[in-house]
Amino acid sequence: MYRVAIIEGDGIGPEVVNAALHVLNKVVARYALNIEFIKVEAGDAAVKKYGVAVPEDSWRIIKSCDVILKGPVGESAGDVVVKIRRGLDLYANIRPSKAFPGVKALNPNIDLVIVRENTEDVYVRAEYILPNDVSIAIRVISKKASQRIARKAFEIARNRRKKVTVVHKANVLTITDGLFRSMTYEVKKEYPDVDIDEMYIDAAVMDIVRKPERFDVIVTTNLYGDILSDLAAYVSGSIGLASSANIGDEKAMFEPIHGAAFDIAGKGIANPTAMILSAAWMLKWLGEKSHSERYVEAGKSIERAVEITLAEGKKLTPDLGGNATTIEFTEAIASKI
Ligand code: ATP
Ligand code: MG
Repeated sequence: MYRVAIIEGDGIGPEVVNAALHVLNKVVARYALNIEFIKVEAGDAAVKKYGVAVPEDSWRIIKSCDVILKGPVGESAGDVVVKIRRGLDLYANIRPSKAFPGVKALNPNIDLVIVRENTEDVYVRAEYILPNDVSIAIRVISKKASQRIARKAFEIARNRRKKVTVVHKANVLTITDGLFRSMTYEVKKEYPDVDIDEMYIDAAVMDIVRKPERFDVIVTTNLYGDILSDLAAYVSGSIGLASSANIGDEKAMFEPIHGAAFDIAGKGIANPTAMILSAAWMLKWLGEKSHSERYVEAGKSIERAVEITLAEGKKLTPDLGGNATTIEFTEAIASKI
């Protein structure tokens, strides 16, 4: 029996999370999965009610669950994500970007995964003001964190096109990026079946737009990864399509990359694809972790249903050029399970 913590989030969060739950319930029945979904309060609504983004009760439940499925959070997004990432040591942020047949992409050849280190770099937020009107930020890159993120990247590449590109700027940041780069090359020795190459961050942004097919798995530091993954999502189509995972050694959290989109909240037109694909990925992760083929198959069946629905193009939400509601689009997906 798996226990899944569900964070509905804010804005369009409850709409897309309920869409994902609708599809999940369908595969739970179809594949006889043994899963309990537990809704926990977190985000802006929790701040209003309790004064904190992740109340103690919610945190206790989250810690006790196997995995977290999280909708987009509004103002308090940073607080929720940081608390969970740090608290559960979810050190790898993984974001695939792939163009879907039937969806207009800036470059339809994109099919890559960005593996972003999630715990260090300038995001440790050690910023200081010096007396002479100068401000500084400390950048942390450690051997241990660089090695473990590299390992994640090679593991993922092994099941794909078997190539890892380490993206850095070690020609300028010779010590910090230099360490990250050399750790990636060191870990590569454990993966003789996977190729490695490297690219400067400034060259990488150009190629993600111009010739994204040259990338399979990109491994990079926190800040570069943050920027690159939004770019890659944009190149692959709508922001409403991209899902992501925060993964540690034991636990994981799956979420769409888009935000709470307050401008369209409550209108019933949000695109639930990213959220539904996050749920599919969660099932696959549970299945791979426990070697349970049924869970992997259930996840894949959701992915196929999404792909077919997008390719048919009959029931699409407005962001994809259609006029279907969130519920109609979700029903079209659920009916294909
Ligand atoms: P954040 O501050 O976290 O970035 P946001 O509210 O700005 O959150 P974004 O994810 O940046 O939201 O999205 C920007 C815009 O893209 C939204 O205002 C919305 O119009 C559109 N959008 C985002 N997600 C979706 C979605 N799932 N379906 C349809 N439109 C979306
Ligand atoms: Mg935004």
